[in-house]
Amino acid sequence: MQQLIDSFGRQITYVRLAVTDRCNLRCQYCMPAHGIDIVPRKELLTYKEMYRIIRVLTELGVTKVRLTGGEPFVRKDFVNFLEMLSFNDLLNTINITTNGALIKKHIKSIEGLKKVKNINLSIDSLYEDKFNQITRRNVFSEVYSALELLEKSSLNLKLNVVVQSGFNTNEINDFVKLTEDKNIVVRFIEEMPFNGSGQREIGENWNLKRILEEIQSEFKIYEVPTKKSSTSRNFQVENFKGSVGIIPAFTRTICNDCNRIRITSTGMLKNCLFDDGVFSIRDFIRKGASNNDLKQLFLSLVKQKPKNGFIAEANRTNGNVSESMSTIGG
Ligand code: SAM
Ligand code: SF4
Repeated sequence: MQQLIDSFGRQITYVRLAVTDRCNLRCQYCMPAHGIDIVPRKELLTYKEMYRIIRVLTELGVTKVRLTGGEPFVRKDFVNFLEMLSFNDLLNTINITTNGALIKKHIKSIEGLKKVKNINLSIDSLYEDKFNQITRRNVFSEVYSALELLEKSSLNLKLNVVVQSGFNTNEINDFVKLTEDKNIVVRFIEEMPFNGSGQREIGENWNLKRILEEIQSEFKIYEVPTKKSSTSRNFQVENFKGSVGIIPAFTRTICNDCNRIRITSTGMLKNCLFDDGVFSIRDFIRKGASNNDLKQLFLSLVKQKPKNGFIAEANRTNGNVSESMSTIGG
């Protein structure tokens, strides 16, 4: 089998696919209050196109896909798409990142799809008023009850917490406490300027080191060994059921072992979160490319994968990082 190997010898086995750029929330760190300019529907990849792209990628050694957005559950028939994707016998794992506001009624059907293993639920505060302020929508109780149902389900649950200086930093250890009796992973993510307008005013710089210090100020933690390609450094408090991860998304100390590529909702291939899009797979398909053409294209595009996120950012032609994460897929 031909495999996707970049020019630094890294094998690509993981793809993150944004199924939409639409979202029902308006998180402060992701987009402006008025939202983003969403693209016309016909510019979004269709489910058939997504299925085909993933199929070709799995024929090149990809085994894992994460579906994200925008908010994946906003797109009509998303659960049917999960089912469709499950038919791909070369795919081992389907993961989903969601804000959780629309997931509750689908949990049972998702549990029935054996390839869907991990749900990452984004929740940045455990206080209703703060949560609503961050997301600019009143959906805290809906999201928190989804969290409780997911925790009891057969799906593995990870919470994504974007650490926002001076806003939810005083809750870091409350989130760690959640892992005492819940079998979940809480992952703290460094905030990045992907919010529709660029770097926000921040006070203190809450990078991995600072987040770790905060946790160590209250808990005795030990580091848990992780897979080489993991995006996080992982820790556990002794005798706690769950664990804690810190994702150095902005300080980018995990790039060396990167094994992933991204496809945006409009079908743009991104070799790195920080690049500004490498090639329109959608246009290539819509011009009549065969699966073999697609394979050859992927094999050559991954050779352009930059060594790390700093190089990707320096090579951008569209200016500084400022696009909304909702258009990239997080
Ligand atoms: N709507 C879904 C959600 O919020 O989980 C999926 C898409 S969202 C873009 C994917 C992840 O990116 C979420 O965990 C979100 O918190 C994170 N994210 C969004 N903007 C970010 C930013 N500027 N810095 C760090 N993480 C961000
Ligand atoms: Fe929507 Fe997710 Fe962005 Fe929040 S982080 S606005 S839920 S896409």
